[in-house]
Amino acid sequence: MTRINSVTLVIALGVCVAIGLPVAAAIGLAREESEERAESRALGLAQVALVQGEETGNQLAAATDAINRLPADRPCDREGVDLMRQIDLESTLLQAVGWADGNVMRCSSIGGSERLFDLGEPEMTSSLQARIRRNVVLLDPSDRYFVVQRGHGVAVIHQQLALSFVKDYPSMSVALFSKSKGEILMQRGDVPRRYVRSSQLPYETFRDGNRQIAIVRSPKYDIGAIVVQSNASFYSYVNRAALILISIGLIVGVFLSLLLIDGARRWTSWPALIRSGLKRGEFELHYQPVVRLEDEKIVGAEVLVRWSDRGNLRMSPDQFIPLAEDAGIITLITDKVLDLLVADAQAILKIDPKFHFAVNISSQDIHRADLAERLNFLIRRSGLDAGQIVVEVTERSVVDAERAEATLGLLRATGVKVAVDDFGTGYSSLASVAKMKLDLLKIDKLFVGAIGTNSEVGRVTNKIVDLAKHLHLGIIAEGIETREQAEALRSMGVEYGQGYYFARPMIPHDLLQKLRKQRDEG
Ligand code: C2E
Ligand code: CA
Ligand code: CA
Repeated sequence: MTRINSVTLVIALGVCVAIGLPVAAAIGLAREESEERAESRALGLAQVALVQGEETGNQLAAATDAINRLPADRPCDREGVDLMRQIDLESTLLQAVGWADGNVMRCSSIGGSERLFDLGEPEMTSSLQARIRRNVVLLDPSDRYFVVQRGHGVAVIHQQLALSFVKDYPSMSVALFSKSKGEILMQRGDVPRRYVRSSQLPYETFRDGNRQIAIVRSPKYDIGAIVVQSNASFYSYVNRAALILISIGLIVGVFLSLLLIDGARRWTSWPALIRSGLKRGEFELHYQPVVRLEDEKIVGAEVLVRWSDRGNLRMSPDQFIPLAEDAGIITLITDKVLDLLVADAQAILKIDPKFHFAVNISSQDIHRADLAERLNFLIRRSGLDAGQIVVEVTERSVVDAERAEATLGLLRATGVKVAVDDFGTGYSSLASVAKMKLDLLKIDKLFVGAIGTNSEVGRVTNKIVDLAKHLHLGIIAEGIETREQAEALRSMGVEYGQGYYFARPMIPHDLLQKLRKQRDEG
């Protein structure tokens, strides 16, 4: 796969991720958010229902306690009925109170002492000995009342009031239930009985499909409250939230995609930019001095290309050289380098007629038919001797191609020297280098950096130097950054060195100055 194809693939994947991820995250968030919301809302409402239930219990207990204190022989005389009416008036959640003997309510706040009501058999008795009837007919035969009896005291509970708040939440069903019996006492909406679990837990929440259920239990009375939040509101909430979040996700996604596509376009059009940069003269040469380690005198320089627009570096060669190689236009850059070298070499030779230039050649150049011709052109125009030119080829391009042997053989026949660049970072062995009949070996900065670190790499450096000497290859160590490295290499017998310790790559003007100084110092 070419780089451009893989770039397209990466971009396509990137766009999918850029849009997909925010949207998926949005949906996930909406879901989680709504589930959490549904849970805490249901729990909150169950709590409200329980508080109402407990308040009803409080009023009921106070009312029945007072009624039970009435004299048992004459509970229904005027004082008794007055008390009942007083209690009825003051209690907000009771509809009526009365005094009963067995199942018959003999007097009450609604019937006075004239009217008896048959309450019927109690349906259940709570753990606190309250007898409960859920469907009692009192005045109006079409109405059913919830009646609790403690001793003789009777309280008629206002069903509507106890759970009245629920009507504000149409998707919500709520019920009060008996903790000990697991029976629903009163409800609004439909609360399936199976949800009413007997447990000691003060509260619990659970889900059943799309329903959120919350239960709270009273520590004081034998009641609990349960809320069932149906799926309708849950989903409408999810949908609403998801809609907002998905919109945001999409906008973010599209924005990210645009950024990606823009980046891709810029990247894939680099070859075009390189071409126009070459035409517009945006490429120039820097020179990094190569010194003889013995006396640290500058004997040559590596030619390093720079792409700059009015002095600003556009891109480092480590980036644009591989781009140009992939796009098949590296040879254009090589030609430019050789062209630019002519004038610089002429000026430098005037100061140091023996100066060497090392030029970087890519693997595609090796396959060119006209490379030798190009170099000859440089030699003729600049006045250089062929022996003053070193062609640096990377280890990989040498090993890759059988054809390289022919081209490099041709070059060496003209007198140009060939060096293996970045030696040790590729896959070749010294044996294959020997076969190629090269002149010089450039030890990569990786090995130079390892000198004195007592590492495996450091030990290999020694071996490379020994073998190179054995094969009668000249050695240049690159990336020398410290005096220690320079001294160690010198004592190993390495002839040439290059690196920031001696000099950084510099513009021709600076190199000329340096060379003049060296010449004048003799
Ligand atoms: P390279 O051929 O290995 O060039 C040496 C690189 O190491 C240069 O980077 C140089 O600036 C850097 N360097 C020199 N001394 C030191 C040091 O002491 N420490 C460290 N850490 N680095 C040091 P640069 O100029 O950025 O070039 C990078 C690569 O681009 C070169 O690596 C070479 O492969 C390629 N290149 C540069 N110019 C050309 C060219 O004209 N043609 C071709 N085909 N490739 C080129
Ligand atoms: Ca090089
Ligand atoms: Ca190198």
